[in-house]
Amino acid sequence: DVDPLNLMGIEIEADPGAKMIPLSSGLEDDLFEHDGQITKREIRAVTLSTLAPHPGELLWDIGGGAGSVAVEWMLHHPANRAIVIEKNPLRAARIARNALNLGVPGLKIVEGTAPDALPELERPDVVFIGGGLAQVDIFTQARAALPVGGRLVANAVTLEGEAVLSAQYTRYGGTLTRIGVERLDAVGGLHAFRPAMRVTQYA
Ligand code: SAH
Repeated sequence: DVDPLNLMGIEIEADPGAKMIPLSSGLEDDLFEHDGQITKREIRAVTLSTLAPHPGELLWDIGGGAGSVAVEWMLHHPANRAIVIEKNPLRAARIARNALNLGVPGLKIVEGTAPDALPELERPDVVFIGGGLAQVDIFTQARAALPVGGRLVANAVTLEGEAVLSAQYTRYGGTLTRIGVERLDAVGGLHAFRPAMRVTQYA
């Protein structure tokens, strides 16, 4: 009982089960193929806001996981560009599938380990670090590769990652924000809000 849509004069039946990709950041996690290593929707929305994409900028997404941050970066503007660095080959292949399925085939994927894989890449305007945070060399190289006015954002969940972010803050300034999300979940026959691991974000 769905009204047909009229797209450019062609009548099509709307599919109530169709995947619709909204224009906002923070797409539903399940729009991406993932193995659990994905920046969750609410955290991703804040992360994209902090990354603050401007048309034509190049992002390095270090520790790509499912590629969700880089994919959303690309979706912001057709001129946006991104390079994802992911050490796990299965995940690198998954990022490629997500990029194709979500309409950003221009996303560049480097299967490799940071910081070793970084020197040969085109220099970024913005760097996001979502994996390998305990390696301080990644931050050192990212800072060296960025232009004046470039932006660096990193999300940590582990104590070791937080320690590195704290050291970055002490040495270079910036901002540290801790973001917590609780989602309603079933508990026995009832429901309760289950907190996800909190994410500490450095910018
Ligand atoms: N932001 C991602 C999730 C990141 S999970 C998303 O939203 O999909 C962290 C990822 O970093 C994992 O896939 C892990 O394999 C990768 N990783 C960890 N250390 C790395 C390193 N030194 N170089 C490249 N990738 C790394």
